[in-house]
Amino acid sequence: MNDMPRPIPFLDLKAQQARIVADLRPRLDAVLAHCQFILGPEVAELERTLAAFCGATHCVTVSSGTDALQIAMMAEEIGRGDAVFLPAFTYTATAEVPLVLGATPVFVDIDPRTFQIDIAHLAARIAEVKAKGALRPRAIIGVDLFGQPADWPAIRAIAEQEGLFTIDDCAQAFGASLHGVRLGSMADATATSFFPSKPLGAYGDGGALFTESAERAALFRSLRTHGEGTTRYEVLRTGMNGRMDTFQAAVLLSKMTVFQDELAAREKIAAVYDSRLGNAVTTPARVPDSESAFAIYAILLPDGAARDRMQAGLAAAGVPSAIYYPRPLHHQPAYAGAHDGTALPVSEDVSTRIMALPLHPDLTDHDVDRICDAVLANV
Ligand SMILES: *Cc1c(COP(=O)(O)O)cnc(C)c1O
Repeated sequence: MNDMPRPIPFLDLKAQQARIVADLRPRLDAVLAHCQFILGPEVAELERTLAAFCGATHCVTVSSGTDALQIAMMAEEIGRGDAVFLPAFTYTATAEVPLVLGATPVFVDIDPRTFQIDIAHLAARIAEVKAKGALRPRAIIGVDLFGQPADWPAIRAIAEQEGLFTIDDCAQAFGASLHGVRLGSMADATATSFFPSKPLGAYGDGGALFTESAERAALFRSLRTHGEGTTRYEVLRTGMNGRMDTFQAAVLLSKMTVFQDELAAREKIAAVYDSRLGNAVTTPARVPDSESAFAIYAILLPDGAARDRMQAGLAAAGVPSAIYYPRPLHHQPAYAGAHDGTALPVSEDVSTRIMALPLHPDLTDHDVDRICDAVLANV
């Protein structure tokens, strides 16, 4: 047979849909029947389900992960003159929101093995900004990159010492845990995303905020509906249209019935990658005493040329791959102007040679074998 082998999907939402469709259809029919398409009863049910799952006291669903980050920062009135510390190696939304609000993102380097924010460098960057005196340090956005938790005890200790607000950008890591506690209450506000490709994905845009503070949760609810007060036509503050639509809540309630099993399936596949590939390529180091949501499984190749060869070899074998992220944010045209010019050597190096393998709960054992064989054949 000289045919190309069956291509393996990088993400298989059709296979996942087949597993949940019997539960999903009646939920969608219920929404069609009651016609409360925005903030309907499924939204409140989802907020209770998500809060219970991650052990957070309050959950406020919103229209996307990006809007969740924005509402968290609007509630703190973060804006002009404020420095917001965040890793340079993350998705663009993390840095976009402070800029949209007039604040200045201050980029911090990452750990070369876990890819999470480098705590020593975070402390150094805060000291630098204080010494310069032009910006007021206000907040730290920790990102749980690729589904693994950032070092929250260390981030919180720095934030307490410096009087900074903490935001957990948990867009890739809902369901992950650190020291036996699920993410959702590590920071003053936790923001997650239900973009379809995230570990818990909707069939459209969606997001959620978690907090332990009742006042903050009330602010989030007001801000997601144009800053409304106790009645719809009382406007207390400048807000936004950041509400979740009810169909997305229905989809997410259905996906929550299988989410725990999916996390276990992802972990099992990651363990196979670790053991079969660990001697041939640099597999991702695990954050100690944590459980990842395994949004992305990223390996490091020796250099960019080796990565190009690997991607071409995998493609020829029907194995897809992806690059998260080919450029650190401080090198993006949109952010270069806001960056103070500091070199961030780990983010710069990692972006040239990192590569992600497929990792989703609907990969078969045979798929996983084929992926491993293809990687080993192209080292
Ligand atoms: C996906 C993502 C976001 C944004 O979420 P959306 O729902 O797409 O707006 C923010 N931060 C990180 C790290 C992400 O991966």
